[in-house]
Amino acid sequence: MSTTTQAKPQATSLGYKGMLIDGQSVDSASGARITVENPAKLQPIAEVPRGNAADVDRAVAAATKAYGEWRRMPPRERGKLLLKIAEALQARTEELARTIALETGNALRTQARGEANITADIYRYFGGLGSELKGETIPLGENVLSYTRREPLGVVGAVIPWNAPVMLAALKIAPALCAGNTMVMKAAEDAPLGVLLMAEICQQFLPPGVLNVLTGFGEECGGAIASHPGIRKLSFTGSTEVGKIIMRAAAERIVPVSLELGGKSPSIVYPDADEDWAVDGIIAAMRFTRQSQSCTAGSRLFLHEDIFDSFLAKLEKKATALKIGDPLDEATDIGTIINNKQFTKVCRYIDEGLKRPDAKLVFGGLPPKTGPLSEGYFTIPTVFADRSNDWRLAREEIFGPVLVAIRWSDEAEAIRMANDSHYGLAAYVWTHDIGRGLRAAHAIESGWVQVNQGLGQVPGMSYGGFKQSGIGREFSLEGMLDSFTQRKNVTVNLMV
Ligand code: NAP
Repeated sequence: MSTTTQAKPQATSLGYKGMLIDGQSVDSASGARITVENPAKLQPIAEVPRGNAADVDRAVAAATKAYGEWRRMPPRERGKLLLKIAEALQARTEELARTIALETGNALRTQARGEANITADIYRYFGGLGSELKGETIPLGENVLSYTRREPLGVVGAVIPWNAPVMLAALKIAPALCAGNTMVMKAAEDAPLGVLLMAEICQQFLPPGVLNVLTGFGEECGGAIASHPGIRKLSFTGSTEVGKIIMRAAAERIVPVSLELGGKSPSIVYPDADEDWAVDGIIAAMRFTRQSQSCTAGSRLFLHEDIFDSFLAKLEKKATALKIGDPLDEATDIGTIINNKQFTKVCRYIDEGLKRPDAKLVFGGLPPKTGPLSEGYFTIPTVFADRSNDWRLAREEIFGPVLVAIRWSDEAEAIRMANDSHYGLAAYVWTHDIGRGLRAAHAIESGWVQVNQGLGQVPGMSYGGFKQSGIGREFSLEGMLDSFTQRKNVTVNLMV
């Protein structure tokens, strides 16, 4: 949870981290601040500036000023700077990981360390792609030279969520900068500290103004980015609801927009996969160790009727063995929900499930009201069964550890139910029969289908959503070209 104060710069005993504008760590123009809380202890841990439209103006001005030289820098030179950032981040992954764990409540061992490491890897991946910003030649005849250039768009406005904040920030910063754009980004109000630390490290290598990172509230700061006339491209990761607001703002000015939005991803388990490896895979795909606060969480579990009960029994044994506790404790598997709003929302869904006589609680339930787990926003993995895919809990993105298990008997029916969603981000298929697995993968309407694994994204994959889960791809070389460059054609008459 974040609260706001009108504190004077030195009037607090909390840690303070400024925003990055034009190469400097700065306070907001208004002097107002946001308090960042540790969701595991419900204690304030730091303050950050509460940026508003005036700060967005300052940041866009800096990014516009820096753009000319940055876009003219040879792409491989830009790439080399990203590679230096990658090494500097790699050297500080533990500090980064601890910051992420402290502010998000994501467990250090199972989540935050992995996020810090992949963040360095993202800069490393895009750092090597400078020379891939290639155009084409078009064969218009011997007397004509016609070719395309990949040019940057200008100042990119980016807005990100809190669930994997540093990785999601890197996924916009690295490709956008590699392609020659400059950036103004807003971090999520609940998890700005890791992003600011990463920005500080980036700034050791970048010219001032190339990267600007603001902190602030959604509409006040993010809205000012979305509608700013100096911004030439919008890149948003977050909920489908806010994605629509961003898209409307982009439509007003006809700027291109990339949207990485929500999901309600299906997992289809065939009868031959009633085995431990598949159960482990379902736990990973459901992201139980990130409290299922993941856009790609496989939160609809379609189990073949022949294995329905036996699979759930195995799942219960393994999921309930996961250790919930202090995110910074090395023994902890599962940390906390990010804030009170999300915690209340998750509890409301669980409560609805408990109250429905036609839904069966397989395991889990409401969070403990006493003991150490009642001291933070801790929830417990929860599985409901016996209701259909039409149920609210099977349709809405809960963004918490609530899994709905649904029975199927016919493959076509399983795929129809999997596709019966306005989301289409990720999907998982579990079977030894690779033909069947691939048939299902091809029939599922999702941007990313994994067969027999439930892992996270890897740089190089073209990752993104079908349907209301988003528009555009950013994770790969192709994503960088599509999302952060525009094509220009030059045609020359060679006869003059
Ligand atoms: P959110 O409420 O949509 O917020 C995302 C970002 O947008 C935050 O920085 C937020 O600021 C800002 N924002 C809120 N209202 C705004 C407005 N009117 N104008 C401009 N910016 C605004 O999402 P969230 O709760 O942080 O994150 C969870 C959602 O993100 C889930 O739906 C999840 O599926 C999705 N997600 C998608 C992906 C993907 O790759 N597809 C990855 C991760 C998460 P505040 O922080 O101040 O609220």
